[in-house]
Amino acid sequence: MQLAARNAHMIGEDGNGWEILFRAREMIAAGEAVTMLTIGEPDVKTDPAILAAMHAAAMAGNTGYTDIAGQPALRAEIAARVTARSGVPTRPDQVVVTPGGQAALFAAHMALLDAGDTGLYVEPFYPTYPGTIRASGAQAVAVAARPEHGFQPEAAALEAAARAHAAKTLLINTPNNPTGVIYSRDTTEGIAEVCRHRDLWLISDEVYDTQVWQGAHQSPRALPGMAERTLVIGSLSKSHAMTGARIGWIVGPEAVVEAVHQLAINTTYGVPGFVQDAALFALQQGVALEARIAAPFRRRRDIAARVMAGSQALRLIHPAGAMYVMADIRATGLTGADFAARLLEQERIGVMPGESFGQAAAGHLRIALTLEDAALEAALMRLRAFAEALLP
Ligand code: PMP
Repeated sequence: MQLAARNAHMIGEDGNGWEILFRAREMIAAGEAVTMLTIGEPDVKTDPAILAAMHAAAMAGNTGYTDIAGQPALRAEIAARVTARSGVPTRPDQVVVTPGGQAALFAAHMALLDAGDTGLYVEPFYPTYPGTIRASGAQAVAVAARPEHGFQPEAAALEAAARAHAAKTLLINTPNNPTGVIYSRDTTEGIAEVCRHRDLWLISDEVYDTQVWQGAHQSPRALPGMAERTLVIGSLSKSHAMTGARIGWIVGPEAVVEAVHQLAINTTYGVPGFVQDAALFALQQGVALEARIAAPFRRRRDIAARVMAGSQALRLIHPAGAMYVMADIRATGLTGADFAARLLEQERIGVMPGESFGQAAAGHLRIALTLEDAALEAALMRLRAFAEALLP
């Protein structure tokens, strides 16, 4: 008896890049004090008012099976939000509610890719990306966004990869995890041009769209000829500190939404109704609540920029959005993995090596801004001193 070959195909050979995180957790389990700047989970808990809405919905009886594509009121609220934020008129039947952004990413690729097809994604990448693409049976091909280019994806590289592999989809992410970069207008237009020219579906992961510190977030779905070929991935995990509630969505053309609906019938059977009611309540609070949740990350990004300013050992990639900063530590002569391992053993500080997000981020570190301000500042000062002591 054997498992489906799909499992090994999905996992791939590139490892999961989370060894440092597991080592840090082991140390914590053994009673050691480790400062964790590793994973991307807001350090605040879900707002009590959202939990009260969830509780009230459950007590009122919304505990049974629910509309599999999402409750009509929530689909309408998401459609209105996407319309208001992107300027693209969006109807509720272009929205499907999913148990989190990750399930949305999976469903999007399942709906668009067959075994043997190729899906592109941009490196550095959120670590589930290649496995999510491969879960559909397709090949996953990375296109590097280079540090020399500010980690902005380049149209020529995307075009060449799309042509060489006859790719069918392209997965992008702005504001970006892990780099904190927001794609420029030129980048987004270049991506749209490649998608139109190579007839690609675009899967645009915009789960950090409320965390913009500089410049503006531009949804590529708003560019000419893109609404009919773009799927936008959204989530309340980061914008509303609701990671555990597992609630997100896909916005896209009706045919894709219907395919994702059919997939949901055969997989998740919908998202709990009381979670959807809580999500509706959360979205109805408007920008005030989102701004309150985003504010600490903006402040900490400024702290990081101040602490690292002028260092010869460590240079921050200009952090424009999302809850991370990326530091270039190539001047120390260490790889990101060696630096992170030594930092953990010697300073008891956990950060993610750039290599965990693909070779394009080799020699870098991703620092999650998920620690209260004063403790973050102290940890970053130790990190800077550690890096400087390594200089030749
Ligand atoms: N996309 C990106 C870029 C992420 O960083 C994450 C979570 N860290 C997700 C998608 C998935 O988030 P969730 O499933 O919690 O919505």
